[in-house]
Amino acid sequence: MNIEITNPAELQKMNPVFGQVSFDNHEQIVFCHDKYTGLKAIIGIHNTVMGPALGGTRMWNYANEWEALNDVLRLSRGMTYKSAITGLNLGGGKAVIIGDSKLDKTPEMISKFGEYVNSLSGRYITAEDVGTTTEDMDRIHEVTPFVTGISEEKGGSGNPSPVTAYGVYMGMKAAANYQFGTDNLEGKSVLVQGTGHVGETLISYLRKEGAEVYVTDIHRDKMENMVVKYGAKIYEENDIYSANVDIYSPCALGATINDNTIYKIRAKVIAGAANNQLAVEEVHGKILRERGIAYAPDFLINAGGIINVYGEIVKYSKEEAMRRTENIYNTTLEIFKHADSKNITTQLAAMQIAEERIEKRKKENAAK
Ligand code: NAD
Repeated sequence: MNIEITNPAELQKMNPVFGQVSFDNHEQIVFCHDKYTGLKAIIGIHNTVMGPALGGTRMWNYANEWEALNDVLRLSRGMTYKSAITGLNLGGGKAVIIGDSKLDKTPEMISKFGEYVNSLSGRYITAEDVGTTTEDMDRIHEVTPFVTGISEEKGGSGNPSPVTAYGVYMGMKAAANYQFGTDNLEGKSVLVQGTGHVGETLISYLRKEGAEVYVTDIHRDKMENMVVKYGAKIYEENDIYSANVDIYSPCALGATINDNTIYKIRAKVIAGAANNQLAVEEVHGKILRERGIAYAPDFLINAGGIINVYGEIVKYSKEEAMRRTENIYNTTLEIFKHADSKNITTQLAAMQIAEERIEKRKKENAAK
């Protein structure tokens, strides 16, 4: 593989896979190439102690292969923590397909990818993510049983985004409870960054409860839609991070909490759906804690989607998925308490609990 290295770290230059911080003890990485369909994909299996590695397939027009590899490693590691903290018998995995989903994706390419998933005999189970759809999962289902997120007509759990949004809402209310002494969001101001599948449903919950919602998106028409449908307000200032709001909800991109933004943030709670919101987990998590900003870890509160697709594996209903997702409220509160008792960041607290669970299961598995 011709890896174009853009990362300046010397170690990573010398060890582009095992030397990556995000490699973090991955069990297996599979490079998939098919010259007939143009498929170039990478499947990352981070950890299978708790169960098969489940995580979506992202199709993205990466600048180079290095960026794709880094993304899949980071995301699959995150899935291990997400499933463990949520109490699911699943490991962590993720896949990326390199290409523009609007221009390059073909049914043949998706089927071929499904064959690669099938070749792993269930060690990895896929689902949709950015750039892939329920329709793609239905197609993959034609060649492998190791796929979730298939349509309800085909016996699947359908679109996971509304369930994800419900979990984010629960996590936000728990964080508000911790920070403001009440989980009532009536009158609280919330800035929602990203009015996509998750953002929109979240906005509907927030408006129903009487929160004042400001929205920001790169697409003006989407924001205007939120104004018309839910009475949200468009955030018109240039710098969204210094917005004078109670709650900031990142529902678009990762790494928005970084060196350039972190000292500008005036919100007292951060709770959103985007994966990997902290650019550098330890550094930025710590600064948030020092600044007294209550951060609800993303991988904990955005787990509604995986709770929903897990129902396809263990056969539970949508109602059960919503009930389990509601429990994100309790887990989030526990994480805040745990972080305070140990004087550590909420990110670290959630990761530690997840790691303890994995270690415990490892011992149980070994004793069998
Ligand atoms: P989506 O693609 O439907 O929506 C994302 C929205 O963000 C779009 O409206 C897009 O225009 C907007 N956006 C992109 N760049 C932006 C920017 N710089 N500033 C403001 N807005 C911007 O995605 P989604 O399914 O709603 O997911 C949102 C986030 O949550 C993603 O990061 C995703 O990885 C994460 N997530 C989603 C789920 C799920 O079930 N959909 C589950 C877990 C995590």
